[in-house]
Amino acid sequence: MTAIALGVPVIRTAPGDSELPPLADRPISPGLIDSYGRRASDLRISLTDRCNLRCTYCMPAEGLDWAPTSELLSDEEIGRLIRIATERLGIEEIRFTGGEPLLRKGLPAIIRTAAALPNRPMMSLTTNGLGLHRRAAEFAAAGLDRVNISLDTIRRDRYLAITRRDRLDDVLSALVAAQEAGLGPVKINAVLLRGVNDDEAADLLAFAVDGGYQLRFIEQMPLDAGHQWHRSEMVTAEEIHATLATRFALSPHRAPREGSPAELFDVRSRSGGDVLGTVGVIASVSKPFCGDCDRTRLTSDGQVRTCLFSTSETDLRVLLRGSADDEEIAETWRIAMWGKRFGHGIDNPDFRQPDRPMSAIGG
Ligand code: SAM
Ligand code: SF4
Repeated sequence: MTAIALGVPVIRTAPGDSELPPLADRPISPGLIDSYGRRASDLRISLTDRCNLRCTYCMPAEGLDWAPTSELLSDEEIGRLIRIATERLGIEEIRFTGGEPLLRKGLPAIIRTAAALPNRPMMSLTTNGLGLHRRAAEFAAAGLDRVNISLDTIRRDRYLAITRRDRLDDVLSALVAAQEAGLGPVKINAVLLRGVNDDEAADLLAFAVDGGYQLRFIEQMPLDAGHQWHRSEMVTAEEIHATLATRFALSPHRAPREGSPAELFDVRSRSGGDVLGTVGVIASVSKPFCGDCDRTRLTSDGQVRTCLFSTSETDLRVLLRGSADDEEIAETWRIAMWGKRFGHGIDNPDFRQPDRPMSAIGG
C-alpha cells in the first residue's frame, strides 16, 4: 500500500518521529488515515480479556486480573462501533479475538448484527479452538467467513506444557469442524519457543499440508504478561525458514501480499512435484511490516489502539456511554489514527513494552 495509490499525501517520512503530527495537517478524508500515508481497513476487536488456556508465552498460570464486566463493551456497543467503522471509516475486514473470543456469549449475535450491515465486512475469528467443534456451524450460519486456530504443537505432552491444559484433542476436532462448516481457508497460528517446540516446525507443516490447513508461524513478540521476552531467545523467521527447508522446498508464493503480514511460500516436497500448500512466516520482530500496516484495534473495554505496541489509547467507551453521536465517535477514531506512530520500535533503545499484555489488547 503506497501513499500515492491512496491519494493521501505523506506528511512525514522519518520513521522514529516522536512528535504527534499536527491535526491541522490531516487531509479531509472520511477514512482512518495516518500521517505516514497508511489507511486502516482491518479492525481487530478483542471480545474479552479472559481465557481458558494459560499459554506460557502469554499468561501466568494463575491468570490475570480480568476486567470487570461493567467495563466491557456490551454486544450492542460493539455492534454500534462496527456499524460506525464500516459506514463511516472504511473498515472492510473484522477479526474477532481476545483473550479467548469463544468465551463471549454474545459472539453469534455480534456476528449476525455485523453480517446484516449494508457494508458487510469480511469477518474472521482468532481462537484457541476449545469448544469450536460444537459451534463452528452456528458461527458459519451467523455469517462468520473464516477462522484462525492457534496450535503450537501436535504433541500432547508439549501442548499440556505450553498451554497448561490437556486439550489438544479439542483443537484437533476444532480444525476438522471449522473446515466442514466452510470456515476456510482454515489457518493455523503457531508460535515456536526455543527448546520447547522449535524442533517441530516441519512436523507442524506436514500436519497442516495433510489436513489442508494454511500454517502461519508468528515470531514471539514482547507482549507477554510477565515481561520475560528476550530477543536472543526468540526463534526468528530466518531460523524457521531454514528448518522448514530441511524437509520441504519453499518458493515465494506468487499472489500479492496485500498488506498481509505473512510472507507466503509455496510448499513442495524436496524432490519437486506439485505445490502441496502454502506456509506463512510472520516476522513481526526481525522484519517488521509496519510500513504496510492497515490495522486499527479495539480492546474489550472500548479503547482504540493504533498498534499492538501503542503506549496510549483513545477511550470510545466514555463516548458510547455519554451522549456522543455516531459522527463524534467516528471523528475521535480518525484523530486517534492520525497520531499512529510509524512503527513498533522494538529495536529502539527507548522501547517500552506496553503495560497491557497481548491477551488484554487482542492478538
Ligand atoms: N486466544 C486466542 C488464540 O490463542 O488464538 C486469541 C488471542 S491470542 C492472544 C492470538 C494469537 O496471539 C495466538 O495465535 C497466540 O499464539 C498469539 N500470541 C500470544 N502471545 C504472543 C506473543 N507474545 N508473541 C506472538 N504471538 C503471541
Ligand atoms: Fe489464551 Fe490465546 Fe493467550 Fe493462549 S495465546 S493464553 S489461548 S489468549
